[in-house]
Amino acid sequence: GLADLPPIVSDSLLALIAMVNADTRSEKIDVGVGVYRDGEGRTPVMRAVREAEQRLHDTQQSKSYLGGAGDKAFAQLLRPIVLGRHAGDERIVGLQTPGGCGALFLALKLAAVVNPDARVIMGTPTWPNHPPMTRGARLEISEYRHYDADNRKVDFAAMAEALDAGRPGDVALLHACCHNPTGADLSEDEWRDVAAIVARRGLLPLVDFAYQGFGRGLEADRFGVELLLDACDEVLITQSCDKNFAVYRDRVGCLFVKAASADNASFALTHLLQISREAWSMPPDHGAACVRTVLENADLAADWRAELDSMHARIRTVRQTIAAADPRLSFIADQQGMFSMLPLSLDQVKQLRSKHAIYMADSGRANLVGIADRDLDRFCSAVVETMNG
Ligand code: PMP
Repeated sequence: GLADLPPIVSDSLLALIAMVNADTRSEKIDVGVGVYRDGEGRTPVMRAVREAEQRLHDTQQSKSYLGGAGDKAFAQLLRPIVLGRHAGDERIVGLQTPGGCGALFLALKLAAVVNPDARVIMGTPTWPNHPPMTRGARLEISEYRHYDADNRKVDFAAMAEALDAGRPGDVALLHACCHNPTGADLSEDEWRDVAAIVARRGLLPLVDFAYQGFGRGLEADRFGVELLLDACDEVLITQSCDKNFAVYRDRVGCLFVKAASADNASFALTHLLQISREAWSMPPDHGAACVRTVLENADLAADWRAELDSMHARIRTVRQTIAAADPRLSFIADQQGMFSMLPLSLDQVKQLRSKHAIYMADSGRANLVGIADRDLDRFCSAVVETMNG
């Protein structure tokens, strides 16, 4: 019966949230949660999204069902942003999903239908939801070391070796940009090597693209995606608008699937619709309708782009400030996105919590834009003091 259910090993990030909530000190700093915060420490609704919501409210005549692929214009308008020079490729189909998670769910389930014996080759550490989602799709995991923590960079030799040892049909799970949790992204040359290996070994690349615009910029962040599309006949891209449109709770994402022909792609789409039919039937509309409204209106699209660029600029500024605080933190300026792993032991992470009310994951992963401008100096001195012991 239900009483016999085994205990869940809970995500340690959820335990961290409980710890932050329980701390009553007003000066507490939360760098655990993975959402963008502005200089005031807020996660606001973006201007263009707010305006799109208003326009939708004023004009939407019906909330009748849209069908399993969701808002088709939404997926269409994302193509130039996500696929770049491949936007017009008819061998690529896209469908709206409930967030990046929904896209990953479909991608992994589809991969399991295509090849139940596929292993999913993934680097460690990775986003903590990747392994359970892979196991949920009944696929085997094959791990390699993505991050060389001593040298604060990608262990590219390990990555290349692991991909080269892949069997044809194995899935290569790759972070497009802003690696979560390490912030350590591939260089352009490393992407070229990865694309060549993946193509040569006949692996199926599954690119998790959750932070476009937060790394080197909207166009530059799709560098690896475009290369893989150049090199491979079959590619899965799981996209999320939850971060770059700041619509987290509205669950906005898209799955793009490239097949060897347009026919194969539309046939794959019938499978995806069957899988999503069993899981959620249709994706929630509101957030995707807002994103679509932003992208189909030039004024809103330009304003979204400007606000996203200013978020990107804040990420860079915060990184540079922390990097300048101590030579041991200088690597932070070279990394991308919201997260980096600070060079701290578990004891030091705990000390930051008790002594300074600064909360980060046990691993030392910190969301650097979780720090409001007013707290940045205090954060830097607390980390340096703790590193000095
Ligand atoms: N992939 C990665 C690497 C992520 O960090 C996240 C969100 N934390 C997701 C996918 C899923 O994003 P969403 O909230 O859109 O489901």
